Amino acid sequence: MSSDHPSHAVPIRQTRLLIDGQWVEAASGKTFETLNPATGQVIARVAEADVEDVNRAVSAARRAFDTGPWRRMSGRERGKLLYRLADLMEQNMGELAALETLDNGKPLNDSLNGDLPLSIDCYRYYAGWADKLEGKTIPVQGPYFTYTRHEPVGVAGQVIPWNFPLLMQAWKWGPALATGCTLVLKPAEQTPLTALRVAELAMEAGFPDGVINVVPGFGPTAGAAVAEHGDVDKIAFTGSTEVGKLIMQAAGRSNLKRVTLELGGKSPNIVFADSDLDAAVEGAFFGLFFNQGQCCCAGSRLFVEEKIYDEFLERVTRRADRQVVGDPFDPATTQGPQVSQEQFDKIMAYIESGKSQGGRLVRGGARVGTQGYFIEPTVFADVRDDMTIAREEIFGPVMSVIPFRDVDEVIARGNCSLYGLAAAVWTRDIHKAHRLAAELRAGTVWVNCYDVFDAAAPFGGFKLSGIGRELGSYALQNYTEIKTVTMAL
Ligand code: ADP
Repeated sequence: MSSDHPSHAVPIRQTRLLIDGQWVEAASGKTFETLNPATGQVIARVAEADVEDVNRAVSAARRAFDTGPWRRMSGRERGKLLYRLADLMEQNMGELAALETLDNGKPLNDSLNGDLPLSIDCYRYYAGWADKLEGKTIPVQGPYFTYTRHEPVGVAGQVIPWNFPLLMQAWKWGPALATGCTLVLKPAEQTPLTALRVAELAMEAGFPDGVINVVPGFGPTAGAAVAEHGDVDKIAFTGSTEVGKLIMQAAGRSNLKRVTLELGGKSPNIVFADSDLDAAVEGAFFGLFFNQGQCCCAGSRLFVEEKIYDEFLERVTRRADRQVVGDPFDPATTQGPQVSQEQFDKIMAYIESGKSQGGRLVRGGARVGTQGYFIEPTVFADVRDDMTIAREEIFGPVMSVIPFRDVDEVIARGNCSLYGLAAAVWTRDIHKAHRLAAELRAGTVWVNCYDVFDAAAPFGGFKLSGIGRELGSYALQNYTEIKTVTMAL
């Protein structure tokens, strides 16, 4: 997909590792390529961290935590640094958005109007928390005075995916830095560039050396080294359920580091005949196709009440027709490429399985263009619950429209999944809405909306979708230890 738009004009300022406040090459001297998913061409070579680099980064984070100025800094001062980082990101929004689009493939409009504002807002939200981490005084029996302190857990290891690189970094850094932890971030190998640029801005903001360390590299090497490390006190991971299990095992094998996981999903999006159909069509479309379908909470099981099934299928398919697939730097584009050849191949295999298992392909299903990883917005009708495309996470622009008859049935089928990340309900009936909100086993239930995120609202999964909650005040718990102090009076 040739481009008249200036993707080549995006400056690549940083490709090295950040360890202890220094930008360094990998100990091995190795680098890896990060590709432009719109063309498959190399954007840059990035220093490739491995075990030795992770060891150095963790030592730096440990030192910064145990003996550095960070520990003596007040919450209010930590908050100021976070606000400063947010301000610097805002001043560099255009550059960061373009870099995110170049490395990830998402439309520039989305980077600029979605990822950037949400990330900046997340840093500001947690900046506000930094000086408000209060313990309790607790009445106990006898001549004693008991109080609790909420102390930072220590060195946080953070491993993030490629679908929302800037935002996942913000979700991890915000609470870690607000609570006074130090951190080692391993960005996804597909999208390391914005993490490095934000780390540069963090150094400019004035975070002390060693508080923030960034080690791009691969999962089984650099990622696994973070998960295994005995001096990492807590690990936060977002990615596949398969790797989430490995992270938990590594924590168990090593030092019982605290673990939070935000994993896969197969979220039911349930449309009743009594809903506002215009809104439901838009919500069903957005809930699945947003971000090229690469959302862990994608509404990938679209349950539609039988009485409106044919009409709804027709309308949501027409909506998908209006998707503009192409160069993510073109302002008209609404769907960019998938992130990588690997993801492209995986999605195409799911489309084949949908066809061979009897799904009715009503739209799309093919590659777009001859270079890059573009896939047509794809819609399958008459999908049964037992088909692979109704059970497994596809992580691509593939919608499965599934008919249902009544409330009890759709609750049972909606919950019939190993995952439990999100769910949505479209109805004008307040009783139905509350009933489903209570009975759907998912960490987030949207009613008459989809993908509404706010830094203050917790997010995370039931069942195989993860452990713990990110965002809001809940995330602060992940990064603190409670200390009970009892003093004789
Ligand atoms: P995806 O399949 O969508 O790329 P992954 O779960 O494989 O999702 O990747 C998410 C993040 O986890 C990436 O940063 C990746 O490098 C990292 N990762 C992959 N394998 C491991 C592993 N064995 N240990 C630690 N991190 C890993």
